[in-house]
Amino acid sequence: MYDIIIIGSGAGGATMAYRLADTGKKILIIERGDYVPIEKENWDSVEVFEKNRYTTNDLWLDKHGKPFRPGMHYNVGGNTKFYGAALFRLREEDFREIQHYGGVSPAWPIQYKDLQNYYLEAEKLFHVHGKRGSDPTEPFDSEPYPNPPLPHEPRIQEIVDELTDYGLHPFELPIGVNFTPHTTANAPYILDRFDGFPDASERKGDAHLCALAKALEYPNVELMVNTKVLKLNTDASGTKISEVVVEQNGETKTLSSELVILSAGAINSAAILLESKSEQFPNGLANTSDQVGRNYMFHQNTALVALYTEPNPTKFGKTFGINDFYHANRDYKFPLGHIQMLGKSDPHQIKADSPVAAPGFTFELMAEHAVDFWLTSEDLPDPENRVTVEDGQIKISYSENNQKGHEFLKSELIKALKASGKFETFLFKGFYFSKGMDVASPAHQNGTTKMGLNPATSVVDTNCKAHDLQNLYIVDGGFFVSSGAVNPALTIIAMALRVGDHLKNEVLTS
Ligand SMILES: Cc1cc2nc3c(=O)[nH]c(=O)nc-3n(C[C@H](O)[C@H](O)[C@H](O)COP(=O)(O)OP(=O)(O)OC[C@H]3O[C@@H](n4cnc5c(N)ncnc54)[C@H](O)[C@@H]3O)c2cc1C
Repeated sequence: MYDIIIIGSGAGGATMAYRLADTGKKILIIERGDYVPIEKENWDSVEVFEKNRYTTNDLWLDKHGKPFRPGMHYNVGGNTKFYGAALFRLREEDFREIQHYGGVSPAWPIQYKDLQNYYLEAEKLFHVHGKRGSDPTEPFDSEPYPNPPLPHEPRIQEIVDELTDYGLHPFELPIGVNFTPHTTANAPYILDRFDGFPDASERKGDAHLCALAKALEYPNVELMVNTKVLKLNTDASGTKISEVVVEQNGETKTLSSELVILSAGAINSAAILLESKSEQFPNGLANTSDQVGRNYMFHQNTALVALYTEPNPTKFGKTFGINDFYHANRDYKFPLGHIQMLGKSDPHQIKADSPVAAPGFTFELMAEHAVDFWLTSEDLPDPENRVTVEDGQIKISYSENNQKGHEFLKSELIKALKASGKFETFLFKGFYFSKGMDVASPAHQNGTTKMGLNPATSVVDTNCKAHDLQNLYIVDGGFFVSSGAVNPALTIIAMALRVGDHLKNEVLTS
């Protein structure tokens, strides 16, 4: 019997473990994957992207019932082992109702001020580097970022200067990097690939290194790997989780705990709840509202590769972002979204995404000149965009929305790049290509167990407690009411710290 079981060791689960570790409670973290090995393939784009070395082999179904292999990472540290570590606060306005081209982004039942101190703590915990105030849309904080911004490499600085001359306000990208070596790895320090790659030098601020490793220093905290949670059962009253059913080495086991924190990620947490059907709960647990799995969002995301005349010898290009189009402005009635730099692409990545077939040396040349951008626009919550489970298989029924703003955002970026004059000369003639992320790329998944005051229309309350159950908290990307247009992980981490404080101060007091 445990005091607390945490399901999942990603941004939400690892941070919950970190926050609760010093309570002395007997805590078990259940993780379906294993540790990501430190190996030379970590930075090999053929292994990572062509052979999908680190993503699950599970097949999911799309809305037509067509199977696909999702870009999901099941391992200690969850998707943060593979994330870009761009760690943003939601904007103050994101918590309020906002009209978009594609519809309304609803208001949250909490406000920015409810998370502000936790955002600051999250930035410290995940070693965020940035420059407070350089982003015109960034919400207020009196304290600076815990670490100075990462410097732009020379080619990136040139692009920043060109965009500034054009009238935009590029800002220092807030990014989680721990320059102090971890005890677990003394690999030489190379700040290189982040997006989609695990970081062999362990400098990337991920949930495993920043939060979980600290929690595991406590003797009362235990991690169980390669153990998949299948379902949750309640006691006879139907108001408390009494059993966590797991599969380990092909065997089914039952564990129990006073308190259960579900942090399996927005899609898997919904799937576990939907699979936890019983005679008493034919629609699964925490689901009297019929909202579990609904309102699935994962942002409108596009990777855009611009081929300049100049070569781009940058090693680590993830140092600036652009938020000039985040809110409605005089040119646009409604918000467009956010732009940030991606890690520098290599010939294999260019070949995989290029719209043109060409001999290998062409991709080498293209990669030498490529500058990589990531564009994100808000995805609006739609109850018909949903996660369901069919015969044990996850199905993602999703139809795009709010595309118009995203298209405007793309064309604004191209206009800005072309204005430099250097993007229009003989070699590539202003050539760029882009790839929108589809349902198989659920990196920014959120919204499936939404937060709300009304149990009839939401799944969790403002402390992430399931309305229907006394001892179940759901702390991962699921609680988002709207997606905003910045990356989600810092909000999940900040919320975990906040929920952890609530549990410590209000629930675990005896
Ligand atoms: C390539 C990539 C780049 C990204 N870049 C950024 C970025 O730059 N900035 C940013 O903010 N966000 C980024 N993200 C998104 C970010 O990683 C996620 O928002 C964040 O990790 C979500 O946290 P979570 O706790 O909800 O879920 P996760 O981190 O996914 O953790 C869920 C954990 O639960 C485990 N689990 C799932 N099902 C079960 C089960 N049945 N039993 C037991 N364990 C289970 C999983 O294995 C996993 O460890 C990126 C994601 C990807 C994939």
